[in-house]
Amino acid sequence: MAVITNHAPFALTKAVHHFDGTRDAARPMDRVEAVRRAGEAFRNDMLKNPTVQFYKAMELVRVPYPSKFAYLNAYAGLAPFVHLCNKLFVIQFNTAEGIKTLLASPSDWEHQRTTPFFAHLDQKAGPLVPVMEALVLRKTNTVLGALASLGLQPEQVDYITYDHLHTQNLTRWLGSLHEPGLFPNAKLLVMKEEWASAQGLIPWQNQWYCPGGITGIPESRVIQLEGSVFLGDGSVALVRTKGHTEGNHSIVVNTPQGILVTSENGVSLDAYAPAHSRIPGLADYAARTGAEVIINGNTQEYVVDQYISMVQEKAMAGPCFLDARFPNVMPSSESAGHWLFPGTAPTLRMGEFHSGQLISTPELKKAA
Ligand SMILES: [Zn+2]
Repeated sequence: MAVITNHAPFALTKAVHHFDGTRDAARPMDRVEAVRRAGEAFRNDMLKNPTVQFYKAMELVRVPYPSKFAYLNAYAGLAPFVHLCNKLFVIQFNTAEGIKTLLASPSDWEHQRTTPFFAHLDQKAGPLVPVMEALVLRKTNTVLGALASLGLQPEQVDYITYDHLHTQNLTRWLGSLHEPGLFPNAKLLVMKEEWASAQGLIPWQNQWYCPGGITGIPESRVIQLEGSVFLGDGSVALVRTKGHTEGNHSIVVNTPQGILVTSENGVSLDAYAPAHSRIPGLADYAARTGAEVIINGNTQEYVVDQYISMVQEKAMAGPCFLDARFPNVMPSSESAGHWLFPGTAPTLRMGEFHSGQLISTPELKKAA
């Protein structure tokens, strides 16, 4: 059984076994090759599954993020920050119980400012905070604004998931001790390792998790996953990609534009294909070291696994539908370039994107 359930059985998943045992080898490069082969096999199998009903990547907010973390050990430019664009993904997929709506990475960015790393940045900026905000905080949309723009009501959200829980505050969506939560029917899909981590962080980790971000969420709203799973008709998969955090997973979606793979193991397509990057230092680092990916290294919890996971993500994704030199990876936080941070604009950006036909609220109600 791939799923721990707290209450009713969760019948919408099927375990993914492709990666079982692929990280057991003593030699790290043997693990890389085993994961690459398994990723290719997984990709071939997933391509036989249906595509999703609807997929949309929507920009929420752009924030500064240290470039030394964004491209660990590789960045050779002068800009201290890159501009990270945090995205929301609205995904609808078919199941035996009808169409389900999944929100991936619904960041409640209005209520996660207390994340210690960013609170400290604010503290250092002091009276300059309003100036800095005006210059480098770009508030494009909120989760509720994005849903409203699509005509989806909060009650229609069946599931939410995050590739990892850094900076996230879930209590407004799922409820806390005092509040019922704005998504009354949504359940969180989370790897059991990530859920456990977030409840007992060591100081190395806790700078990046929002204090109180999961406090008081009723257990009935949480589905802890024991491993990788397909959802519904197999058009979506949540695949363990340990590295950036211990309980990290990738959101893998079969679309008419190919298999799109989302996580924050890397912050741009350049990070997944550094040999083709124009960002200062990346191509040189790749040539010098042989690295085929560049890690997003703010916490460096499991960097060897993160490297292997990025190879896995590339293998699952296959070539990018925009430019085959890059993989079909859709970072959940994608570097976007900014005039204050020259030389950080990625060579190729996924940006916002949608595919398929949204089933809107009235139609969902009719079907139910
Ligand atoms: Zn993170």
